[in-house]
Amino acid sequence: MTKWVYGFGGGAAEGRALDIEILGGKGANLAEMCTLGLPVPPGLTIVAQACGEFLKAGRCLNDALKAEVMAGIARIEALTERRFGSNDRPLLLSIRSGARASMPGMMDTVLNLGLNDETVMGLAQDAGDERFAWDSYRRFIQMYGDVVMGLGHDLFEEILEDEKARFGREQEPEMTAAEWRSVVARYKDVIEEETGAPFPQAPDIQLWGAIGAVFSSWLNPRAATYRMLHTISEAWGTAVNVQAMVFGNLGNSSATGVAFTRNPSTGENRLFGEFLVNAQGEDVVAGIRTPQNITEAQRIASGSEKPSLEKLMPEAFAELSAICHRLEAHYRDMQDIEFTIERGRLWMLQTRTGKRTAKAALKIAVDMAQERLISRDDAVARIDPASLDQVLHTTIDPQARRTVIGSGLPASPGAATGEIVFSSEDAVRAQKEGRDVILVRVETSPEDIHGMSAAVGILTTRGGMTSHAAVVARGMGLPCVTGAGNLRVDLRNGLLIGGGLSLKAGEIITIDGSSGQAIKGAVPMLKPELSGDFAQIMEWADAARRMRVRTNADTPADARTARAFGAEGIGLCRTEHMFFEGERINVMREMILASDEAGRRAALGKLLPMQRSDFVELFSIMHGLPVTIRLLDPPLHEFLPKAEDEIAEVAAAMGLSPRELSERIDALHEFNPMLGHRGCRLAISYPEICEMQARAIFEAAVEAARQTGAAVVPEIMVPLVGLKAELDYVKACIDAVAREIIGAAGLSIDYLVGTMIELPRAALRAHVIAESADFFSFGTNDLTQTTFGISRDDAAQFLETYLRKGIIEKDPFVQIDYDGVGELIQIAAERGRRTKNALKLGICGEHGGDPTSIRFCEERGLDYVSCSPFRVPIARLAAAQAAITVPKVA
Ligand code: ADP
Ligand code: MG
Ligand code: MG
Repeated sequence: MTKWVYGFGGGAAEGRALDIEILGGKGANLAEMCTLGLPVPPGLTIVAQACGEFLKAGRCLNDALKAEVMAGIARIEALTERRFGSNDRPLLLSIRSGARASMPGMMDTVLNLGLNDETVMGLAQDAGDERFAWDSYRRFIQMYGDVVMGLGHDLFEEILEDEKARFGREQEPEMTAAEWRSVVARYKDVIEEETGAPFPQAPDIQLWGAIGAVFSSWLNPRAATYRMLHTISEAWGTAVNVQAMVFGNLGNSSATGVAFTRNPSTGENRLFGEFLVNAQGEDVVAGIRTPQNITEAQRIASGSEKPSLEKLMPEAFAELSAICHRLEAHYRDMQDIEFTIERGRLWMLQTRTGKRTAKAALKIAVDMAQERLISRDDAVARIDPASLDQVLHTTIDPQARRTVIGSGLPASPGAATGEIVFSSEDAVRAQKEGRDVILVRVETSPEDIHGMSAAVGILTTRGGMTSHAAVVARGMGLPCVTGAGNLRVDLRNGLLIGGGLSLKAGEIITIDGSSGQAIKGAVPMLKPELSGDFAQIMEWADAARRMRVRTNADTPADARTARAFGAEGIGLCRTEHMFFEGERINVMREMILASDEAGRRAALGKLLPMQRSDFVELFSIMHGLPVTIRLLDPPLHEFLPKAEDEIAEVAAAMGLSPRELSERIDALHEFNPMLGHRGCRLAISYPEICEMQARAIFEAAVEAARQTGAAVVPEIMVPLVGLKAELDYVKACIDAVAREIIGAAGLSIDYLVGTMIELPRAALRAHVIAESADFFSFGTNDLTQTTFGISRDDAAQFLETYLRKGIIEKDPFVQIDYDGVGELIQIAAERGRRTKNALKLGICGEHGGDPTSIRFCEERGLDYVSCSPFRVPIARLAAAQAAITVPKVA
């Protein structure tokens, strides 16, 4: 048999905090506070399960439920020594919603229920305060008329304003009993006019009307939107709390307020909140009067002249402080509470875990661990890794005013202000002149790398979260907004058009890569704070972590940033990025366009010292930490010019005619370059490329070891292997170069040769491939593409539809596909390790920085994750959380 109603009050309760799914958050915590012996007005909770039934029938058809509610009210009557509907000491009730997940302000509440033309007299007599009784009655009619009868708030507000003006009153507390009485009369008239029936006087009718309305508010559009945004299921329903009223509007020794047990924006360990004297709950939120501060410290800080609760009602304040301590000790977390003081007596009306900024979350977790309220692991587990973006990047001051001209996807976090430039060349030029620029493009391509790195932020009008601009910007730690479809780039006239404005090149804009906004002009910013609480949490996280965290770094700048963020090596160095810079692209093109091996070798000879010096620098920065270098991976035509004028320029430099060059480019054209001549296939076709890269790596290792005294262990990674024979061929080439250089240097240099696992065939044949590999690194970007048979560059268009239509829950390029790609990884890990116990396993796709995917890696026993530099702290934290919560395998 279902238990429909749970009672609470008088130091005991039938429910507890853990019953949140049955009683909703509010009901469960009211029960818990009762059990703790805190002063809570007695009440009852109708279980959330009743919600659906109510909504279907439109009223209560369930006799068992009705009987339980009436029995519960009888208990409230006994505890309060009042009677519901009686003229002698009438019991008034509040009817409050409360779902499993907190949905502040989304659903409805009715206060002061049980008042009518008779009980209002009884209330006045009992309290000895007529003004209070009529104030409560008008509040009740107004809320009931709005929430239950659906007449809207404004109808009543208009009358109230009118009456206030008529009586010459500025503030509501100035109104007399007679004046409130007049308001009540007009409220009742307007209800009768609007509905054709008088305001319901029978308390039972009022009660069931209000209960039904609170259940119905579960379906109101506000609540529905909130549920969608926070993935709350409609099936959960809301519970309903029926509770004895306590009165904050009973004269000047009464008050009502809300508080946080610690400051929710800074985390400071001090009570923080607001209250109003002689008022009821809704007044604080409604902003009718300016609320007062709870503590003196807060009052002084805010410059308010109105007395604090600490000064005004010292006894109630002391009790409130003590209760807050008690609640924190019990819940072991910062609480967000509601309270009311009735003639000096404190009542608790709600408690829940308080929302907080990322900065406050860090401070509170560290403080609580130091106060021994929670363990260090708890502190680590409490921080949302994604929220670190807020502390790692410059952000827009939340107080700042913004003139938003357009918006797109929050592709790479952080905010930046700069002049508009429309081309990479302009970006580079401006940077040389010391100016900050935002690179504004329809979309970006690999040729924009230099322009992107010269800019302080990127804004594109097309493209998704995994577009080129988004991926590269995240890698560089640059703020980026992509796909801002409501902005238009007019290249012909050099204008950025949006939000009714046309901005020229050189005008200042700000982009917010955390919200996706593009904003006119400069706005005040907040700088990141990397020491203090952040550093402390990171230290504790590192102590709890099992997996290593490396970084994907292609440049010395990336490597330095990543080291500063705590990277323990490089998990992926994409060597091709080294060939785009300055002079190098031309030598690279020379190599690609050479007609024979000799020509290629000549060009490679020029690339060798450049590549070697890059590696020396990377090895020195990493000072003995492992560095994984991937051999050239992209199809060669990516390095060739596309635009006509560029083709002419390159042709001239190479002593070819533009036609000859175009023909050569055409010859390299592929229909599906992603599945084409790339990865280890290049090294097999042109072993001299692999040779040059291996030479650069080993020569650099020798030199760095001599310079720094810390021996580097290069890990050379062969991309896109599907066959063991492919790996063997390339490995033979690497080993030959290694023997030669190490022999000549007379130094001992250890090195590993491994492969990326990014093709399903490689995963399935992992036991065979492992015979030749020292490590596997899961290239989950390509592995996702090849497993799903979709291209990341083209998938944005339909993945969005898939998400919207619920075909998939998450973008598989953002969060690893546990079931499919995940199973391939598991197969590869198991089979690989069966062949070679010590096989090192890592992941180097974009997933390496995604907390859910990192958890997957912990579950599968990988040795490390590798991610872009700015995600290293996020990965360290996520890896620690995974180690704390994932059950250890023996
Ligand atoms: P919400 O979920 O929107 O905060 P609540 O159910 O908490 O809604 O109630 C709204 C307001 O009414 C709050 O300010 C609360 O303090 C006040 N309130 C609720 N129940 C009572 C009660 N029994 N006595 C006095 N005030 C109450
Ligand atoms: Mg509330
Ligand atoms: Mg790949």
